[in-house]
Amino acid sequence: MAIDPATWLISGARSRQPGQPLNVAPQLASNFYLPAERDYSRAKGTETSEALELLLGTLEGGRALSFGSGMAAAATVLNRLDAGAILAIPVDPYHGVRGLADEAEAQGRWTIMRLELDDTQAWVDAALVADLLWLETPENPLLTVADLPRICAAPRKLGTIVAVDSTFATPFVQRPLDLGADVVMHSATKFIGGHSDLLAGLLIVTDDSLFDEFHTRRLLHGATIGGLEAFLATRGARTLSMRMEKAQANAAELAQRLANSTDVGEVRFPGLKTHPTHEVARTFMQGWGAMISFDTIGSPARCAAICEQVAIINHATSLGGVESTMERRAAVAGQETIPPTLIRFSVGCEHVDDLWADLTQAFNATRDRAFDSQA
Ligand SMILES: *Cc1c(COP(=O)(O)O)cnc(C)c1O
Repeated sequence: MAIDPATWLISGARSRQPGQPLNVAPQLASNFYLPAERDYSRAKGTETSEALELLLGTLEGGRALSFGSGMAAAATVLNRLDAGAILAIPVDPYHGVRGLADEAEAQGRWTIMRLELDDTQAWVDAALVADLLWLETPENPLLTVADLPRICAAPRKLGTIVAVDSTFATPFVQRPLDLGADVVMHSATKFIGGHSDLLAGLLIVTDDSLFDEFHTRRLLHGATIGGLEAFLATRGARTLSMRMEKAQANAAELAQRLANSTDVGEVRFPGLKTHPTHEVARTFMQGWGAMISFDTIGSPARCAAICEQVAIINHATSLGGVESTMERRAAVAGQETIPPTLIRFSVGCEHVDDLWADLTQAFNATRDRAFDSQA
């Protein structure tokens, strides 16, 4: 039976056995009585992590492995590279991924190619040279969109794989495996978990030997997800479709209102025609996501004050929760290259008018602090 992905997320990965709970319960266990197929959870996971993997693997069109965090999942992919291998990453990837690449480069383990995410030809050329193309799209925090269809279809050196950090998109916005990627990575900490109460990561692949390789590396690196996190991530994922629908509608509306505001400079949102990669995004994304970045008018101090002034939106890092969060991104260690008045705004599922009223009162309350205006 072919069912809609939203229906699958609600109906899938349940035991459906008489007397069993509707939700696969949190299995909090390291070891199990022998003889057993599952003897130790670092190696084999738990019933709970299996439910999460079935749910999200099916949604992305492959087989999933769950991890203790998004970074644990990302490191599992990067660490497949041999000594002397070539890794292609964006110039400004997620800072954790940049850290791993910088470390391996400093140790002389890998050669790093740093490519502008929107320079599609550079990625197409790199596919013939690099051993791993690591794409992140839409990219944190400027929301640049990579031309996934073209890059994934480019001819490659034998053995080269393409991995996509799809955290900002979710499977409702893009399905990289369908476009020819080998690996999809998610920080399930974000939209998939959706409630800012867990750390989790996912890798989804179609190739069985890649699956086995990542499974082995997960157990060797001790990166397996805990039973409680797997339970919470599954519970959060049940409502992903509804949350994304609402959050994306809110984001599209707020991006428009921000773009028309005299308190705001540039607004970066893939759905805006003014966004540098809007045309590329239109070719394959089934939505624009729920992340907005915008520059506030005035000094960095005013920008910081706006973040402290909001009362419905949460002044916090991270993203993808049912609750809206925002932060001045340049205040984050390792993100100092980001424009100093840029706010990264993760739009949640509150009423859009309440979010707008909150932003408006924060703009009004800080306008006298708009000294050394950059307008
Ligand atoms: C948060 C994030 C990560 C890292 O995930 P953790 O769950 O924090 O380890 C990687 N990539 C992107 C795009 C992220 O937003």
